[in-house]
Amino acid sequence: MKTGFVFHESYLWHDLGSAAAYIPAGGYVEPELHIDNPSAKRRFRNLIEVSGILRNLVSITPRQATIDELTMVHGKEYVEKVKKLSDSKGGDAGENAIVGIGSYEIAALAVGGCIEAVDAVADNRVENAYALVRPAGHHAEPDFGRGYCIFNNIAIAVKYAQRIKGFKKIAIVDWDVHHGNGNQKAFYQDPTVLTISIHQDRLFPQDMGLTTEVGAGKGEGFNINIPFPPGTSSGGYISAFDRIIKPALDLFKPELIIVACGFDGNIIDPLSRQLLYSEDYRLFTRILKEVARDHCQDRLVLCQEGGYSTAYVPFCGLAVLEELSEYSTQVNDPFLAARKGVFPYRELQTSQDQVLIEVEKIRNKYKDRISGEV
Ligand SMILES: [Zn+2]
Repeated sequence: MKTGFVFHESYLWHDLGSAAAYIPAGGYVEPELHIDNPSAKRRFRNLIEVSGILRNLVSITPRQATIDELTMVHGKEYVEKVKKLSDSKGGDAGENAIVGIGSYEIAALAVGGCIEAVDAVADNRVENAYALVRPAGHHAEPDFGRGYCIFNNIAIAVKYAQRIKGFKKIAIVDWDVHHGNGNQKAFYQDPTVLTISIHQDRLFPQDMGLTTEVGAGKGEGFNINIPFPPGTSSGGYISAFDRIIKPALDLFKPELIIVACGFDGNIIDPLSRQLLYSEDYRLFTRILKEVARDHCQDRLVLCQEGGYSTAYVPFCGLAVLEELSEYSTQVNDPFLAARKGVFPYRELQTSQDQVLIEVEKIRNKYKDRISGEV
């Protein structure tokens, strides 16, 4: 088993400046680091090194995506706007998509990192890959940055995989706690890309990510949203994988699976109210590895999205890398002990079951459609 790993120190130099969480500092608001500061991702990278797993991963060197690659998803004017902001004093490229000085090059390097991960998997240099990139991408829309996302890393990597590497059917599974609106939008009318997002109901972007958003035109039936209420733990998530996500992937039979891998559904994340542990992310990875084995010749690429608990993101990330690479470190996740105390395991709750029943009804309608030729 060979697992590729993409990282570049520059990813941690993308600077959103000072704020109080995500509220601009000033007046009576004392400045501190923006919530999307590099600490959580840096500590994840550090634990990968200290745990010893890094030696067992195949290093993949990222490169900057070209303008031609960026414009496979984004409008030229938007790309130029980001470049202009980045070359001057920075600013917002949309709704809370802060571009710092030099962020264009770093964001292009994040896209290029995901492209290189796809490349390595497509060329069989590795079986699967993890791209620890920053800034995240899944909220970025063609002409509009959003939610700390400048360019849509995964959507561009999907286009690249189709146009350059010749893949036909690709699935995106987004388990970041926020809705994957950017990927949904990029492929909403496209039956060659199955987009699945499991997220906290109407957290961000507000009023998007509903079960009724199923795709349109030729893409009708090829978008799946699973919006869970706050307080969902393993029971709900694993039921969603068993009842919705895995069956849909089995019907669609993708040639490549790309995961929008956010760890912001963890128990102590400041930006969500879900109850996931490292072991849950390990299990999600295991399930998708099995699907990738069945349909994709193991081809599975995970790209970093959110995750804001500086304390817990490293352990969630390490669990995923252990599962991907089948290499066990000596690291025990100290937060798992809390499972018996403050944040216990909870089985599927009625309110979560209702969401799944609703999605199951919709999926039944599209069974033939997504198992057919595209
Ligand atoms: Zn998120």
